Amino acid sequence: MKRTCLYCNEELRGRIDKKFCDSQCKSAYHNHTSASTEAYIRGINKQLRANRSALRTACPQGKATVRKEFLIKLGMDFKHLTHSWKSKGGNLYYFCYDYGYTPALESGKILIIQKQDYMKE
Ligand SMILES: [Zn+2]
Repeated sequence: MKRTCLYCNEELRGRIDKKFCDSQCKSAYHNHTSASTEAYIRGINKQLRANRSALRTACPQGKATVRKEFLIKLGMDFKHLTHSWKSKGGNLYYFCYDYGYTPALESGKILIIQKQDYMKE
């Protein structure tokens, strides 16, 4: 089987366990990988903060029911959350840090709550 450098795709010669042409390709590969991973993590962190900010704006009193579109307008992206919490009543809440939400009984609406001490993560 033809072996190629993980960074530049050139065919590798020499030792069977070689993964890169040389140390330059090796460090370029690792820098590139960690830089794009960091950028990916930063992007998600940014969205999580934006979600928390949207929930906080929509729920200034600790509890609120709002339209889903209103949250989206405020910058909410429902794909990103930090954890979930199930209430005694069995409702599953999705949290972004200290603000959580669940679909409200009224369709198209979201019930937002602020984290309380009794809610164990
Ligand atoms: Zn290479």
